[in-house]
Amino acid sequence: MRWAEITIKTTEDAADAIAEMLAQIGADGIAQTDPFEFRRTIEEDPLSYCDDGTIESYGSDVVIKAYFSELDDGFIRMGPKSEEFIDPNGVGMIYGNITDKTLTTEEAIEYIKSRLTEISSFLPIGQGYEGMQYVKDEDWANNWKKYYKAFKISERVAVCPSWLDPDEIDSEFKIILDPGSAFGTGTHETTSMCAEILDEVITPDSKVLDLGTGSGILAIIAKLLGAGEVEAVDIDKLAVDVAEENSRINKCEIECYQGELSTVRCSDYDIIVANIIADIIAAIACDVPARLKPGGLFVCSGIINTKKDRVLEALDRAGFEVISSRTKNDWCAYVCKMK
Ligand code: SAH
Repeated sequence: MRWAEITIKTTEDAADAIAEMLAQIGADGIAQTDPFEFRRTIEEDPLSYCDDGTIESYGSDVVIKAYFSELDDGFIRMGPKSEEFIDPNGVGMIYGNITDKTLTTEEAIEYIKSRLTEISSFLPIGQGYEGMQYVKDEDWANNWKKYYKAFKISERVAVCPSWLDPDEIDSEFKIILDPGSAFGTGTHETTSMCAEILDEVITPDSKVLDLGTGSGILAIIAKLLGAGEVEAVDIDKLAVDVAEENSRINKCEIECYQGELSTVRCSDYDIIVANIIADIIAAIACDVPARLKPGGLFVCSGIINTKKDRVLEALDRAGFEVISSRTKNDWCAYVCKMK
């Protein structure tokens, strides 16, 4: 099966109206890339991060891609899909009567262009129609899977996508985690440094707290490596749900709950691992010792190079000694023990 993928480049002001119009005329799927929204998120959310040049690469147009399923060679159906877009009196329809018929793709493109012209009478739509191409169903849904392989995240642990046969992956421990799933897929340096450290320090006696668990990746790795008890905590409820699901998929018994350091359930962890960001690590450092068993370890990561001094000062003030450290690209991770 093929889809006609229609691309429209527009302005931030007109993007919602155009997406709404495309939904009304029966697009099966609409994907919107908004560089302005992306920039705001990166600038305003202290937890977000993107590589240099990513923002610029998005340009200054909102790009909308609408997908229409192809009926027969070169024909697509346009028409309201949902009752909410059908108003028998034509009242309340922002865009007037909607066509409801089978069109050749050329006719469909002309129709979309005419709709864009209508919208341009009351909103600045920018460039407008950019192009059309056919995409195959399987290109969409599955092709990307080909490019993902299992990868070693630490000496003994591999991260495996769910569609690969784990028996074919040569690693002592395997965590099943799909790329694209939210909140930490193991590809980030800050996560892999924590995984490498856990690989060295976990013992069957370890009682572990994964603070800022995200997808649950580090909690699951701790459990796979044999930790006795593991708790996974995140301030974000959605992350907790994802961590719970991933624990289930990996058959790991992990207590997942929403919270932060001040609300965690115990004060006798052997290992607290926190891969968050420098400012948060610095802010919570002084409260970590009260949650650790004597001799326990604080593994902290997510520390960008430029802020490491701030974190090191906070760790020192909290009474920690850094017993080992790692760096990967611009990121640092520390293993600390009370002095
Ligand atoms: N542990 C995962 C995810 C790290 S992303 C990994 O290593 O890949 C950081 C996570 O910390 C996010 O899910 C965020 O919601 C959570 N977080 C941020 N501030 C927090 C805080 N103060 N207490 C607990 N979790 C926090």
